[in-house]
Amino acid sequence: MIITLDGPSGSGKSTLSKQIAKEYGLIHIDSGAIYRTIAYYFNKNKLSKDQYINSLDDIDIFYKKNGVTLDGKLLKNEIRTSEITELASKISAIPEIRDKVNNIIRAIANKTSVVVDGRDIGSVVLPNADYKFYIDASIEKRARRRLNQMRRKNILNNKSFNEIYSEIEQRDKRDMSRKLDPLTIPDGAFIINTSDKKIKDSIKQINQIIRGNNENHIKHS
Ligand code: C5P
Repeated sequence: MIITLDGPSGSGKSTLSKQIAKEYGLIHIDSGAIYRTIAYYFNKNKLSKDQYINSLDDIDIFYKKNGVTLDGKLLKNEIRTSEITELASKISAIPEIRDKVNNIIRAIANKTSVVVDGRDIGSVVLPNADYKFYIDASIEKRARRRLNQMRRKNILNNKSFNEIYSEIEQRDKRDMSRKLDPLTIPDGAFIINTSDKKIKDSIKQINQIIRGNNENHIKHS
């Protein structure tokens, strides 16, 4: 089984994907974490833009059960900083990098049942998925969630709500307007708006759709 969850930053897709993976016994692939790890590698090795593409084959990157490893080390908070968030958003417009990430995802999805979250998963990477969801929320709510998440992870560095809000706005713009594989609502996706919902209510809605009780939900076409 393949389930995809696409949507903008902070819409809750990662949290929902983890929960769905647990409920249905699927492997969860956080595609954003792969872009972030590649960005972390470029940053760590102080590579310039024109070195990015030539260095792609040297990156020792794997998707493991608990996340992405670089040189055998599982990366956690170090790929969630503002610096890496910004770089990941920028490098994700480079075609060769998108190809690399897509190959990693497809290799896993060919072998096992997965739930994958990202921006272009239902539209481009795994268009034949069994269930596609588009997870959305207002910028206000997404910025609030990002602020709380950064505070919890101790990576807030005195950033204000307004700064986070405008960073999210910029990243949305970049994700939606890039030429290659922009963020869109995939055909056949069910739209879930999480702005004013508890996680358990979004999960309930997703479960109803997966279990075939979807007469109240409309597919995007
Ligand atoms: O989802 P997350 O915020 O961790 O993703 C980091 C960056 O990777 C995003 O800003 C987005 O530009 C990019 N991304 C992408 N396609 C995906 C997943 C993430 O372009 N499928």
